[in-house]
Amino acid sequence: MRSERLYTLLEANPIVIPLILVLVIIIFGGIAVYLTEHKLPGANITTLGDALWWSVITITTVGYGDYTPISPIGRIIGVIVMFSGIGIVVIIVGIFSQKRIKGLESMLKLKTEALPRLFGDEMKTAIIDKIKGIENLTEEDFDTLIPAMKSLRRTLLEESKNSYKCSRCGNVYYVKPKFCSNCGRDFT
Ligand SMILES: [Zn+2]
Repeated sequence: MRSERLYTLLEANPIVIPLILVLVIIIFGGIAVYLTEHKLPGANITTLGDALWWSVITITTVGYGDYTPISPIGRIIGVIVMFSGIGIVVIIVGIFSQKRIKGLESMLKLKTEALPRLFGDEMKTAIIDKIKGIENLTEEDFDTLIPAMKSLRRTLLEESKNSYKCSRCGNVYYVKPKFCSNCGRDFT
């Protein structure tokens, strides 16, 4: 129950994990650099505050250079903090583009649901696209494939029987229109 709730929270806000990661790296990176540096002669990171500030500036790859580790271990920690910063940005960008693709997909789905009688050709293209990516289809998507093909067949058969094709532009109508909505030809 508890982990389920956590899961839905993370699904709704996938950005939470990278943000927690950033915080953890800032804190642990800062503490690690503080511990390795603060007692070294000539060190400029001497307080935990300096170290955490350095950690933030490093993970964001801003790198003011006002505080820098001077020991090899401190510098290795710096490299790790820097690259995890870059890695997390990549993850965040990935999450957002995935969300955008999902949003576009559901938008397209809504569109096709609002227009159950898609033109046969459009439907055919949609089905062909699905078959091309058949190995990536979800179970649910696959289950819609066969009914979609059946209805395509029905649509195509019906289309050839009682449809009105614009003689100028080729647009097909199921109900005889007064004017072609595409090119404006008079049907009467
Ligand atoms: Zn037309």
